[in-house]
Amino acid sequence: VPNQSEMESYWLPFTANRQFKANPRLFVGADGMYYTAADGQRILDGMAGLWCVNAGHNQRPIVEAIKHAAERLDYVSSFQMAHPLAFEAASRIASIAPAGMDHVFFANSGSEAVDTALKIARAYFRVKGEVGRTRFIGRAKGYHGMGWGGLSVAGIGRHRKDFGPLLPETDHLPHTLDLAHTAFSRGQPAWGAHLADELEALAQIHDPSSIAAVIIEPVTGSGGVLPPPQGYLERLRAICDRHGILLIFDEVITGFGRLGAPFAAQAFGVTPDLITCAKGMTNGAVPMGGVIAGDKVWNAFMAGPENMIELFHGYTYSGHPLACAASIATLDVYRDQDIFERAARTAPLWEAAAHALKGLPNVIDIRNIGLLAAIELAPRPDGGAVRAIEAANRCFDEGVLVRSAGDALVLSPPLVISDAEIERLFATIARVLKLLQ
Ligand code: PMP
Repeated sequence: VPNQSEMESYWLPFTANRQFKANPRLFVGADGMYYTAADGQRILDGMAGLWCVNAGHNQRPIVEAIKHAAERLDYVSSFQMAHPLAFEAASRIASIAPAGMDHVFFANSGSEAVDTALKIARAYFRVKGEVGRTRFIGRAKGYHGMGWGGLSVAGIGRHRKDFGPLLPETDHLPHTLDLAHTAFSRGQPAWGAHLADELEALAQIHDPSSIAAVIIEPVTGSGGVLPPPQGYLERLRAICDRHGILLIFDEVITGFGRLGAPFAAQAFGVTPDLITCAKGMTNGAVPMGGVIAGDKVWNAFMAGPENMIELFHGYTYSGHPLACAASIATLDVYRDQDIFERAARTAPLWEAAAHALKGLPNVIDIRNIGLLAAIELAPRPDGGAVRAIEAANRCFDEGVLVRSAGDALVLSPPLVISDAEIERLFATIARVLKLLQ
């Protein structure tokens, strides 16, 4: 364990950790639903790490697969070379993807997946001769990683404001949270589908043939868990189809079972042109991201100009053997342990437990879908300390890991959470909220 001065000097992998600089949360182990802290305390993981450890921590088959792969083939470039695990991982991912989406382009994180998807969209139209289609539309409160592309289409102001200028020719749809209409709605709010029509308005402002792609999280995650209003995604798809705009679902959080189906696309019955994924792709065990595409986009992108050097994309670690091995083993675990079905079965109890917090002090909205939930807390009128941050910190002191997102507490546990652990998670939050002024 590092000493205090080492931690203060070097321990800053994430700027958000500044608040813990003098007293970081050191973890030395994990298994199933729990982290083990350096002082031996067991922490119930209500966040699946960072929305990624869908099957619970340190699943043996995944650990063994990574070890085995490391002993055989440490590295091979995906640039003019390949290895069998990459094909196997791609075909396994395609086998659970929405029908017709059979192609996988590997990256190493969600951020890289997003940038890759945006580049694929641009290249697709270039190859088709539609050179004027360059504009991207994101959504307010959207999170798409920390790369320049993802940041440009993202809609969380505090992530963007100190890093501009970002990509030109980006615009944003409004978000779908309106407390007056959706407060305490369970699952998808009944109200708000018409907000998708703002895309039609943007298309009229900019000329529809200038828009390459719309990128959204089907369920806004880091922006505070906002499920799409009923009919919203269908309307967005229809407007994209009307104008030849590509629709990208950023499924970095919703992919791999979070909503009880392999992808949100299947949970909502709306198929995008591209899906970005990461996190649950390897159950968090090894960095990996990817873009899943259908024939239409893929064929154009891969056909490219005669000289492929002209249409060039890929990363040193794309399809890394360890990541591919981890991903194959992860999909085995998801299948063998019925993880997605389990999430679907647990969702009603999860919903009931979340909504039982209604009426506690400062709780002004509760949202849930699949095994995601947000408890929205009233901001302090004087602009004082954010209640959600305080609540998350107090939960941690009581051995429960949850996060804040704006004024909301957000929860995204491993999908293997038991009924008793759900009870403990929400009982802890309830206790903390009663004490919090
Ligand atoms: N997209 C979404 C929807 C995400 O939630 C995240 C990460 N929270 C990203 C992209 C970026 O992923 P990464 O941190 O792996 O780059």
